[in-house]
Amino acid sequence: MKAVVIGSGFGGLAAAVRLQARGIQTTILEKLDAPGGRAYVYKKDGFTFDCGPTVVTAPYIFEDIFKAANRKLSDYVNLVSLDPFYRIYFHDGTHFDYTGNSERQEREIARHAPQDVEGYRQFMAGSKKIFEKGLIELGDQPFLKLWDMIRVAPDLLKLDAIRSVYSYASKFFTNEKLRRVFSFHPLLVGGSPFRAPAIYALIHSLEKEYGVHYAMGGTGKLVEALVKLFEELGGTLRCQSDVVSIDTQGKRAKSVRLATGEVLDCDLVVSNADLFTTYEKLIDSKSKKFYSQSRLQNFNWSMSLVVIYFGVSKKFPDLKHHSIILTERYKELIGDIFNRKTLADDFSLYVHLPSVTDPSVAPEGHEAGYVLAPVPHLSEGGVNWEVVGPQFEDRVLRYLDQNLMPGLMQNLVVRHSINPNYFRDTLGSHLGNAFGIEPTLLQSAYFRPHNRSQDIHNLYLVGASTQPGAGMPGVLLSAQITDKLIARDFNLQEHLNS
Ligand SMILES: Cc1cc2nc3c(=O)[nH]c(=O)nc-3n(C[C@H](O)[C@H](O)[C@H](O)COP(=O)(O)OP(=O)(O)OC[C@H]3O[C@@H](n4cnc5c(N)ncnc54)[C@H](O)[C@@H]3O)c2cc1C
Repeated sequence: MKAVVIGSGFGGLAAAVRLQARGIQTTILEKLDAPGGRAYVYKKDGFTFDCGPTVVTAPYIFEDIFKAANRKLSDYVNLVSLDPFYRIYFHDGTHFDYTGNSERQEREIARHAPQDVEGYRQFMAGSKKIFEKGLIELGDQPFLKLWDMIRVAPDLLKLDAIRSVYSYASKFFTNEKLRRVFSFHPLLVGGSPFRAPAIYALIHSLEKEYGVHYAMGGTGKLVEALVKLFEELGGTLRCQSDVVSIDTQGKRAKSVRLATGEVLDCDLVVSNADLFTTYEKLIDSKSKKFYSQSRLQNFNWSMSLVVIYFGVSKKFPDLKHHSIILTERYKELIGDIFNRKTLADDFSLYVHLPSVTDPSVAPEGHEAGYVLAPVPHLSEGGVNWEVVGPQFEDRVLRYLDQNLMPGLMQNLVVRHSINPNYFRDTLGSHLGNAFGIEPTLLQSAYFRPHNRSQDIHNLYLVGASTQPGAGMPGVLLSAQITDKLIARDFNLQEHLNS
């Protein structure tokens, strides 16, 4: 049997490893010059920059992929746990260290609002229940029928997991800063804390249970590990291979065609390309009855990002590995990004500074890192990034220089950036979305695109826009669900070693 996987993001790589481990001859076709997708690695002048994901949660989901191939993740990558997980800075100059240790976390909460310590305990108890239901029990289940959704709805209602994450956190915390600390997580997967359902409150338990990790050498080492494993199993990765169509016969895919004209025959196709792009660009109009243009256009797409990568000839010993800076206008800024789609004068930021943990990513005496700002995705009459981009970047860097990283601008030796145009033009993401379809209640589980196409029976879909959702754990689970579906559809052994 032969499979083609289009795209080498984490979802595509994980699916390819699982299929190859089953003995299905699998080829990954990646249009860029290197694998990883959003986790592409940019290197310059001795600096290594992970372009995308940096916060590694749920390492067991990575381990499961290696187990499926009778290997051990630790033989390929060195994951180290971080403490604190994040330092969160508020507009008034105060900060909160977010850790997985209950006692220290309670002390930190008491420092800001002693009356909220009990609320924290109750919040974590609720988060644990949501985690057990939402991730452990349902995380790798395909929601193919409406009934699958109806069946779990009473439990989600009982857990109060349907209201927004911010509203859920507000039940337990009276202090506004703590409400923000315990509700910002959906932003890490492209969602608004005011729209993403409290199912996402499970992330707090997930992090507490399994920690927040960093792959030594960078997230790129996780990409390299999956590629190495895939090739050891006999799979083929071909970069600079732009797929231009999935060719069908009736309701089945029979081959894929590259921009060069080359055609690869196969028994099944897994697309890890952006869902909109897969349907819009790769599938002919007569084969897309379910995902018609209008259905695709009706989805709300996640926000986009500006990311500025910096190499600095100066150390910042006071900074933690992960810093989050929340603006005073928390709710209003999120409304600007998600509802009004305007670029505000202020911003909330995430700063990744891996060189505080890992000297290998920067020359001695230097730091390597990035700062990321959530921004609206592209829309008609919206922001012209060609014009606004450089000014916006300067404002962000100046802010960091003045508030968190004194001397940053003066000691900048490498600077590189991406904005919504990169997501659209280089990664082929609809409207320059950074995280696929926005995680809202009505775009989750059954309502989120399934991992088996409703239009083409042997076309499978993995990655951020599909079930269960974005983020490394989400897309790795999408590959796990897809592998199960393929096993079922082709009468293969249901479970290998995982
Ligand atoms: C800046 C940033 C920071 C993030 N931080 C975190 C984090 O800390 N932790 C976390 O868990 N998640 C994080 N995320 C989210 C996470 O990175 C993504 O959800 C996940 O990596 C997406 O993987 P994917 O499987 O959807 O594939 P993608 O990474 O989207 O890759 C898809 C691939 O398909 C290829 N492709 C597209 N069209 C074609 C075609 N026609 N032919 C061939 N190839 C094609 C693309 O080139 C690309 O390589 C972050 C995302 C970004 C952008």
